[in-house]
Amino acid sequence: MLNQNMLQMGRKRSVIREIFEFSRARANTVGAENVYDFSLGNPSIPAPKEVEEAIVSTLQSGDSLSVHGYTSAGGADWARAAIAASLGRRFHTEIGKDDLYLTCGASAALSAVFRALTIGPHTQFVAIAPFFPEYRYYVGEAKLVVAQADTKHFQIDLVALENAITEDTQAVIVNSPNNPTGVIYTEETLLGLSALLSRKSAEYAHTIYIVSDEPYRELVYDGAVTPYIPHFYKSTIVCYSYSKALSIPGERIGYVLIPREAENARDVYDAVAGGARSLGYSCAPALFQAVAARCADVKPDIEAYRKNREALYNGLAALGYECVKPSGAFYLFVKAPGGDADAFCQNARLRDVFMVPGVEFGYPTNMRVSYCVAPETIERALPVFGELIREFQR
Ligand code: PLP
Repeated sequence: MLNQNMLQMGRKRSVIREIFEFSRARANTVGAENVYDFSLGNPSIPAPKEVEEAIVSTLQSGDSLSVHGYTSAGGADWARAAIAASLGRRFHTEIGKDDLYLTCGASAALSAVFRALTIGPHTQFVAIAPFFPEYRYYVGEAKLVVAQADTKHFQIDLVALENAITEDTQAVIVNSPNNPTGVIYTEETLLGLSALLSRKSAEYAHTIYIVSDEPYRELVYDGAVTPYIPHFYKSTIVCYSYSKALSIPGERIGYVLIPREAENARDVYDAVAGGARSLGYSCAPALFQAVAARCADVKPDIEAYRKNREALYNGLAALGYECVKPSGAFYLFVKAPGGDADAFCQNARLRDVFMVPGVEFGYPTNMRVSYCVAPETIERALPVFGELIREFQR
C-alpha cells in the first residue's frame, strides 16, 4: 500500500519541466539555434564573482570538518548573525540571528512555514492568481484557496481576497516581485492588504499571517524598490532564497525570517524549526551557509536581464502582443492572442517556441515567457512570434 496523495504528486510531472525536457530533445534534433526555450526560471547570468571567492576562501579556511559538517538545525550562529546584520542595515530594523532560520532555498522555507501554520486538514492558505504552481504541493495537507489578482495591473484585488478569506485562513501568500507577472506590489496595495488582514484577524480572533515569498527581491529594474512587507504588516513571515539573486539555484540555500514584532514570534520560530525537522531537513548546506553569510551585502549585476526585458517586451509589444511591463523578476506574463494560452502555446511548440501556459499559474488567458535566456534567443525568436500572431489574426 502506498500513500495515494504522494503517488499522485510524484506521478504528476511538472509542466514546466516537461516543456523544458521536450525543448532539449528538439534541440538535439533540429539544433539548439532553432529552438526558442522561454520555459524555465533558471538564472542565465553567472553567479557574481564574490560567490566563487566565498566558496574558495571557505574551503581554504582549513577546517574541513566544519565546512562540510552538520550545523545547528537553523544554521550556524555566525552565518545567521552576518545575514541578520546585513538585513537589519538594509531594512532599517532590528533583526537578530535568532530571528532567522536557514533553509534549503525558498521551497524548503515555504514548506516548513506551511507546516508550522497548519492546524488540521481544514487549514487554508490563500494564494493570489497568477501564482507559483508549486505552492499547491508545498501546502501539504492544508488547502490552497485561490483569489484572482486585479486583471489590469496584477496588483492584489482586495475584494476578491476578502471573499477568499475564511475563519480557517492561516495565511495569505504574497510573492513580489511576482512569478509569473514580474509585478511588484505597491505601497498602496500593501497598506490595503495590511488593513484587510488586521480587520479579518480581529473578526476571526486569530492572527492571519502574510507569508512573503521573496526569491526575486533583488531582481528589480529602473530604480524600483521591493517594499519590506513587515514594515506594513508586522505578522509577516519572510521566505527568501539566494537561488535567483546569486544565480545558485542548485546549491539550495535560503531562510525564513520571523520578525520579532510578528504575533507570537518565538512560537512561530519554534514551529518553523519543527516543520523543517519533520520534513527531514537536518540543516541547510554548511558550505552555502558560509557563502550566503560572506555574500550578504552583494548586489547582483542584472543589466543582462534588464536588456532582455527591454528587447522582449518592446519586440512583443511592437508585434501586437499585450503584457503588463514587469518591474522585477525575469518573466513576462503575456496575454495569449484569442485568450486561450494553452492552445496558443501548443501552436507555438510546433515552431519550437516554448512558453508556459497560464493555467499552471491559475490564470489560463496568459502565458509565461522567461527572459533569463541568451539575448540571441530573443533576437531570433521575435520573427517567429510575429508569424505566430499573424497566423492567429488570419
Ligand atoms: N517561489 C517562487 C515564486 C519561485 O519562482 C521559486 C523558484 O522558481 C521558488 C519559490 C523556489 O525557489 P528555491 O529555488 O529557492 O527553492
